[in-house]
Amino acid sequence: MLYVVGVGAAKGYLTDKAKQIISKADVVYGSKRAIEYAEEFIRGEIRVLKKFGREVYDEIERVAKEKNVVVLSTGDPMVSGLGKKINGIVEPGISSVQLALARLKLDLCEVVVVDSHGKNSYDEIEKALEFRGKVLVLADKNFDPSKVRGKVTVLENLGLENERIGEEIKSDLAIVYIER
Ligand code: SAH
Repeated sequence: MLYVVGVGAAKGYLTDKAKQIISKADVVYGSKRAIEYAEEFIRGEIRVLKKFGREVYDEIERVAKEKNVVVLSTGDPMVSGLGKKINGIVEPGISSVQLALARLKLDLCEVVVVDSHGKNSYDEIEKALEFRGKVLVLADKNFDPSKVRGKVTVLENLGLENERIGEEIKSDLAIVYIER
């Protein structure tokens, strides 16, 4: 059995369904951060993932043929997460996108969400702004808000002790809201 389970964007956002699935697993894979969010519900063996890529995913899928395996994905697995990469049953989690929408009092249907973490997506953001006027960007420290035209709000470390809403990016856990 293989599950890809969302653990929420911060500690405290794990659903009851996720807790149940995690506690039944023989082996639990996840980044250091994902493991941290779910640790108290893990009873099986913990395998911290340091590398992400096809080889690692193939190995996990092999192990899952014999054991009950859970792969943890921070936030929701289907928001720039592991849900598309690993061939397992996806259990949703509370995404950083949802936390950002709550802080901004915005409806998901009003915005376009663009992934710019670990890549450059300024063209896509420009098109999305032309289309809808409101864009949420999954960003990291390398994102340069001066490269987009519009009013920028940075939401960092959502749900964590050092959550911050401002204009600069200082954290790799940042969502940037742009409004034209
Ligand atoms: N699956 C995750 C997103 C993974 S991609 C989710 O659903 O939240 C990683 C990006 O998510 C980061 O670059 C950042 O843009 C965003 N992110 C993750 N956790 C965050 C948090 N606590 N606060 C703000 N942004 C966060």
